Amino acid sequence: MKPCRQCGKKAVIDLRSRNLRLCAECFPPKFVELTERSIKQYKMLAPGERVLVAVSGGKDSLSLWYVLNHLGYDTTGLYIDLGIAQGSYSSQSRRHCERMAAQLGRELRVVRVEEDFQNGVPEAARLMGRAACSFCGMVKRYYMNRVALEEGFDAVATGHNLDDEATTLLMNVLHGNWGYIARQAPVLPAREGFVRRVKPFCRHTEKETALFALLMGIEYIEDECPFSVDAPSLFYKDILNRIDHQYPGTKLQFYSEFVKHRRFFEGAVAEGEVLSPCLLCGQPTTGEICAFCRAKEQVAQRRSRLLERVGSKGEE
Ligand code: AMP
Ligand code: ZN
Repeated sequence: MKPCRQCGKKAVIDLRSRNLRLCAECFPPKFVELTERSIKQYKMLAPGERVLVAVSGGKDSLSLWYVLNHLGYDTTGLYIDLGIAQGSYSSQSRRHCERMAAQLGRELRVVRVEEDFQNGVPEAARLMGRAACSFCGMVKRYYMNRVALEEGFDAVATGHNLDDEATTLLMNVLHGNWGYIARQAPVLPAREGFVRRVKPFCRHTEKETALFALLMGIEYIEDECPFSVDAPSLFYKDILNRIDHQYPGTKLQFYSEFVKHRRFFEGAVAEGEVLSPCLLCGQPTTGEICAFCRAKEQVAQRRSRLLERVGSKGEE
């Protein structure tokens, strides 16, 4: 690789889409600067705001917590313990979040899914007959909003990177999910009962966040969630990377141009959608009971029916 564009030392990364080659010393400050630029460009956060950073224990969200803290935001971490026992996934990820909290001297809130779904997300998704990832996504969004709302945070920040965002966009375009496309944005403004949601790394590739974590000595869980190994998104992500390898910058252009023109899709959001507080938990919903509370009831019912059946078989 040719030398660093800024200082001439040995380069460690070639950001071809930005026409930038950097060494191990010049890359981290540039990464922070580019994050700050995205925050300003998309009007994600105002100086000093109270931000709830959703941390999974992975490289993206832990780097995000580090960077937002460095930029002077008043940050608190939120770890959602999904109750994934396989490979000690949840307990290991939690440990990485706790370590970052200690390093930054910031608080980490922990919510345990098992308080609502007795045996965690894997069993609940199975009982609901739903793909683990989509069920898990709903549950995570619910807790993020609930904690942020109850505790008066200005915004929730997640570590979604360019690869995540471009992959979601590609999948939604290919499957014609126009309603989802209309809701995909670097910043989702606050509205009745929903706290603002921001994705400050939406223009950083996964390779960049991984390198930043590595250079800053951030320890994170490297394993993928055991339930996501067969997720279709990994296939699409790989295809996008192959396109980007052949035609550098395509991924960033695909996403950035979409964001620039996303108002064209706004008509795809169900018109006249009225939100009111869920009768059980108070979170915003279009019906009377929110999706989370409905799932909670159904899982409890299906579980006890299953247990009854197993019990009666045992008596036969
Ligand atoms: P994922 O949905 O796993 O692709 O993660 C996207 C983002 O959601 C991460 O960068 C985090 O900000 C957030 N997130 C994922 N899992 C958790 C978790 N268990 N607790 C808190 N935040 C999470
Ligand atoms: Zn509810």
